[in-house]
Amino acid sequence: MLQFDKLSLNIPDTTKPRVVIIGGGFGGMNLVKALRGVDVQVVLFDKQNYNGFWPLLYQVGTAGLEPDAIAEPFRKMFDGYKDFFYRMVRVSKINPETKIVSTVIGELHYDYLIIATGSKTNFFGNEQIQKYAFPLKTIPEALNIRSQFLQCFEQASMTTDPEEQQSLLNFVIAGAGPTGVEMAGSLAEMRKYVLPNDYPGMDFSRMNIYVVEGLGKVLPPMSDESGKRAQRYLEDLGVIIKLNTMVESYDGETVTFKGGEQIRTQTLVWGAGVTGAIIDGIPAEAVEKGRILVDPINQIQGLTNIFAIGDIALMKLPDYPRGHPGVAQPAIQQGKHLAKNLSRMLKNEPTKPFDYFDKGSLAIVGRSRAVADLPGNFHLGGFIAWMAWLFVHISFLVGFRSKLSVFTNWMYRLFTYQRSTRLIIRPFVRVDDKVGKEIAAQNEIA
Ligand SMILES: Cc1cc2nc3c(=O)[nH]c(=O)nc-3n(C[C@H](O)[C@H](O)[C@H](O)COP(=O)(O)OP(=O)(O)OC[C@H]3O[C@@H](n4cnc5c(N)ncnc54)[C@H](O)[C@@H]3O)c2cc1C
Repeated sequence: MLQFDKLSLNIPDTTKPRVVIIGGGFGGMNLVKALRGVDVQVVLFDKQNYNGFWPLLYQVGTAGLEPDAIAEPFRKMFDGYKDFFYRMVRVSKINPETKIVSTVIGELHYDYLIIATGSKTNFFGNEQIQKYAFPLKTIPEALNIRSQFLQCFEQASMTTDPEEQQSLLNFVIAGAGPTGVEMAGSLAEMRKYVLPNDYPGMDFSRMNIYVVEGLGKVLPPMSDESGKRAQRYLEDLGVIIKLNTMVESYDGETVTFKGGEQIRTQTLVWGAGVTGAIIDGIPAEAVEKGRILVDPINQIQGLTNIFAIGDIALMKLPDYPRGHPGVAQPAIQQGKHLAKNLSRMLKNEPTKPFDYFDKGSLAIVGRSRAVADLPGNFHLGGFIAWMAWLFVHISFLVGFRSKLSVFTNWMYRLFTYQRSTRLIIRPFVRVDDKVGKEIAAQNEIA
């Protein structure tokens, strides 16, 4: 068995300045790309060996896409980069005094450090919800959701207890942000086009999809117009929307809302919030609401040569008093901009402040139905917004293989109304689910 003390980071010494980047997501990946040609050694640490395209994660969860269609390995992405080193390891701590980052395998000295660790699911301290709900932040979590959905349908087709069947066919999605809306729309289309063929004897009018939102509108980060439109599209698809409703608890069997209303369900998808993926060693005074306070060149408040970009960074500007939105574009733009500033710093040239260019936002609800907020207070809906959504997502996917795979998959679905990946490859079994464990053991699948 491999032992950690037999491993080392194995990064060669260098006379060049060493830039260490923690996290190769939208921000980190674009920073590495934009540093190509700059005379530095670049070291990228990421706990996973690929860059994930999270806007399409819900499609993995709803059996629309295979996971490898939305992920690109770093080793392929940065093939041929000189003086670049990638290590698959989680950074556990940084020390701004000694300029050292720590991992379970070893430590490394940096000259410039960039924290691009993104965000993680926020359960708001509710351990019970954390234990039983299904978050959607990583590919393994999306695969858990896919397995859970399909297992619920399989079990519902076998149970003779109507109450049990109802609880298997109730799906509750907490959070009516883009993730919740997109997942609900996709599940509703599955109910309409796919499931009745797969399970001919089952009555899918009994399958309920709830979207529960604590605020008073659907798509809170978007305009009222887009929120109302998305709500209408979802309701047309038969999704039940509960606004101004907060989830209070979930024990794996029953969701209880503040006010006492309850729904029996085996599946609560948790898309109700995120918080920054903070690393130990960042001074407490530089952290606000789970994000790291940075100045207009993304340098962490009170520290020198340590920067934060993307979701984790909180840059308060007059136009963005609560920081930039936690979406891909600020991360991409900050990664590219920081590379230019690092290059300027190395040449002793003055740096330039970050200026965010808001390209607008999009959310898809289903076939031919999407909403878009464009710069200049323009709002689009329906087919045109749907086409824009398809185009933007294909063009931002990393790598030709992913673009081709997603495009072919979408075309197949468009014409056949099918989902090709309704596979339970890795069954989902809760730690305390005795029946699930028994079924898995009987079928030799766990
Ligand atoms: C389900 C979902 C749907 C979304 N939909 C949209 C959308 O439609 N449009 C949009 O614009 N945005 C969307 N977003 C938000 C968008 O994905 C984020 O804003 C963006 O990913 C932020 O980029 P980032 O580089 O800051 O972080 P990320 O892209 O999350 O990258 C962070 C990286 O850091 C790594 N990491 C974290 N901690 C450590 C550590 N300690 N050590 C080593 N590595 C570490 C992670 O493995 C990851 O690779 C969505 C997000 C999710 C989860």
